[in-house]
Amino acid sequence: MARISDLLSDRPTLSFEFFPPADEIAAKQLEKTLDELAGLSPSFVSVTCGVGGDGHDRTRDIVTDICRDRPFPAMAHLTCVGHTKQGVADLLDDYAAAGVVNILALAGDPPDGSAISGDFRYASELVEVIREHPADFSVGVAAHPEVHPRSADRASDRRHLAAKLSRADFAITQFFFDPTDYTRLCDELAELGYPQPVVPGVMPVIWPKSIRRYADINGSTVPEDLFARLESLPAADRITAAAEAAAELSQSLLDAGAPGIHLYTLNRPEASLQIARELFPK
Ligand code: FAD
Repeated sequence: MARISDLLSDRPTLSFEFFPPADEIAAKQLEKTLDELAGLSPSFVSVTCGVGGDGHDRTRDIVTDICRDRPFPAMAHLTCVGHTKQGVADLLDDYAAAGVVNILALAGDPPDGSAISGDFRYASELVEVIREHPADFSVGVAAHPEVHPRSADRASDRRHLAAKLSRADFAITQFFFDPTDYTRLCDELAELGYPQPVVPGVMPVIWPKSIRRYADINGSTVPEDLFARLESLPAADRITAAAEAAAELSQSLLDAGAPGIHLYTLNRPEASLQIARELFPK
């Protein structure tokens, strides 16, 4: 199974993010999306991880299935807040046994603003546990171009990110809409002496209302003119316009030296297909 850290040296990568489907209908939609996006020969895909409950198990099952059945690697998102070191070690054993080698190490968020519980507080602690595992995982971490909402200030955000990256192989960013947020993040990490690749996460605004909500939670600034325009369009036109805007942002990021583009698909293929065709015409 290819390691994402190796794939990133053969840039630019193109990757797609999915979330575990909530029911049978959503599971069929995800399969259909995977079938359609497979034609683009993605470098890798990734599957998010729900907080608590059976979130880890559902991600493990989907990632294992993709790695077994598809010609591209799948990366497992793994959150640590609310979990025990033993639980995480057992899950890493499962991934190693299934030949899954790519893990995105994340803190996650305590549900509904409750206090942080379990054996972990920060993603960097999870990176250490993954590094201690006998399997040689390729480890990614999250980066927040507009600064993580729990950060006291920009300087400490970058310091903690740099410390986390020092034990990881690469980072993938939260979504943002201004390319200078990404270039500034890369410059700040370079100043701190961290050359690891940072892959920008790009969100096509196919559902403006929901994406506004996610942006509020993540601290991502929403460009009002783009969102107002998209909100006024009928669904089919909105997807086309959202993909055009995301392709333009992605192209400017690649021109600025981004090692790849990670698309948040929301489990739908249409916008990602259009973006990929605009970025990488055959
Ligand atoms: P951390 O790196 O732990 O940072 C969290 C905060 O703590 C930051 O403010 C940081 O500056 C601060 N901090 C870090 N270390 C220290 C320290 N030693 N001392 C003091 N402060 C410190 N969430 C999910 O639930 N499931 C997913 O699948 C998922 N996938 C994601 C994928 C990507 C690409 C991204 C960008 C985010 C994803 N998230 C996911 C969201 C993520 O879990 C949240 O943003 C979470 O609040 C922070 O995660 P982190 O890994 O960045 O945390």
